[in-house]
Amino acid sequence: MTRSPKRAVIIGAGIAGLAAAHRLREAGWEPIVVERAPARRPGGYAVTFSGIGYDAAERMGLLPALRLRHITPDELVYVAPNGKRRFSVPGPTVRAMLGERALNVLRGDIEDVLYEAIRDKVDLRFGTTIDTISQSEREVHLALSDGTEETADLVIGADGLHSATRALAFGPEEDFRLDLGHMVGVFMLDELPDVVTERATSALTDTGRTLAVISLGQQRAAAFFGFRTDDVTRDLTDGPTLALTRTYGDMGWAAPHVLAQLPTAEDVYFDSVSQMLVNRWSRGRVVLLGDAAWCVTLFAGFGSSLAVGGADLLGAALELHPDDVPAALSAWESELRPQAERKQKLGRRVKGLYAPADPFRLWLRDLPLRMAALPPVSRLLERHLQLKG
Ligand SMILES: Cc1cc2nc3c(=O)[nH]c(=O)nc-3n(C[C@H](O)[C@H](O)[C@H](O)COP(=O)(O)OP(=O)(O)OC[C@H]3O[C@@H](n4cnc5c(N)ncnc54)[C@H](O)[C@@H]3O)c2cc1C
Repeated sequence: MTRSPKRAVIIGAGIAGLAAAHRLREAGWEPIVVERAPARRPGGYAVTFSGIGYDAAERMGLLPALRLRHITPDELVYVAPNGKRRFSVPGPTVRAMLGERALNVLRGDIEDVLYEAIRDKVDLRFGTTIDTISQSEREVHLALSDGTEETADLVIGADGLHSATRALAFGPEEDFRLDLGHMVGVFMLDELPDVVTERATSALTDTGRTLAVISLGQQRAAAFFGFRTDDVTRDLTDGPTLALTRTYGDMGWAAPHVLAQLPTAEDVYFDSVSQMLVNRWSRGRVVLLGDAAWCVTLFAGFGSSLAVGGADLLGAALELHPDDVPAALSAWESELRPQAERKQKLGRRVKGLYAPADPFRLWLRDLPLRMAALPPVSRLLERHLQLKG
C-alpha cells in the first residue's frame, strides 16, 4: 500500500535540493533533505538568475525575496595588465544588458531565500550524507551516515558536480564528466584591495586567466579566479592555495592582496569547469537534479536557473502522474533535456571567452562591452530598460 503523503529524500541542500524540497512540498509530498556540510554556506559567487528559474521563482512566490538580494555594481571596470583602467561600463547599462526578467544574485543568497521558505516545514539534516542506496519497483531504501535508514518513494540526487547519489546509482563520475580545460576559484574577501573601487566589479583578463573582484558594499566582497589549464588533475590535487599562487603569483594589480587572504578564507570554492553528460537522468525511482545531472557550467551562466526551473517542472510532473513516479520522471526529462543540452552546447562554445588564449581573442571578447561603455550606446540601453520597466 502506498503511504500518504509520498516521501522524497533529497541529497544536497544547494539551490537544486532546496528548490526541489520547496516545490515537492507544494505538490503534497513530504521531503527530507540531507546535506553533507555541517551548516549553510553563505555568499559564494554572483550568478545571473533568469529564464525558467526566474519564471519558476515567480510562480513559487520567491521573487520578492530574491529581488531584495539583487545586486547591480555601480560599474564594471576592465583593468589592463599594468593595473590601469582600460574602460568601464556604468551600472545602469549593466542592468539594461541583463534584461528585465533577470537578477544578479549571490549563489548563497538564492539558497538563503529557498532555505527561509522551507526551514520550518521540512526535515533538513546537516552533516549527513548517503552511504548506500537500493530500490525495488515500489520504493527506495537508503542508509544515511547518521546511522538512520530511510524508505522513500523517490530519491533526488541534488548533490552537485561530484554527486555521491550519481556514483551509487548511475556509475563512477569519470563515465560522465567532460572537463572544459578551465579551473575556477571563488572566495569571500575580508578586505577590499586598495586598487579596487568600492561597489564595482573590477576584472583583469590577460592571456589565459581572469581575476575579478566583486565589491557588493556593506563590507561584502568576493574574489573570482578563472584560468585555462592543461592539467585539471594536477590543479585539483594541488588545491587552491598552490594552484592559484602558481597561476596568479606574477599578475600584479589586486592579485597579491587577494592571494594573501586565501590561506585564511573560510569557504573556498575551487573546482574544474566540467559538464555532466548523463544520458538518462533517472534510474527507476532515483533521479538527478541540477549540477549532479547536467552541470552546464558558469560558461553557460544558467545552472541556477535550470536548478530552480528543473525543480519546478519536476514538481509539476509528479502532480500530473501522482501514482507513477517513473512515468513522471520520464515526462519531466523529455521536457527539460532539450533546454539543458542547448545550454551545455553554449557552455562548450563560449569556453574560450573567459580566459582568452591570445590578445586578439581578448579584444574580440571585449568588443561588445567596449561598445556598451560608449555614452550614446549606454544611454540607448538604459532608455530601453526604462521604457520596458
Ligand atoms: C563561478 C560560477 C559562476 C556561476 N555563474 C552562474 C550564473 O551566472 N548563472 C547561473 O544560473 N548559474 C551560474 N553558475 C552555476 C550555478 O551556481 C550552479 O549550477 C548551481 O548553484 C548548482 O546548484 P546545485 O544545487 O545543483 O549544486 P551545488 O551548488 O553543488 O549544491 C550541491 C549541494 O549538495 C551538497 N553535497 C555534495 N555532496 C553531498 C553528499 N555526498 N551528501 C550530501 N550533500 C552533498 C553540497 O554541500 C551542496 O550543498 C555558476 C557556477 C560557478 C561555479
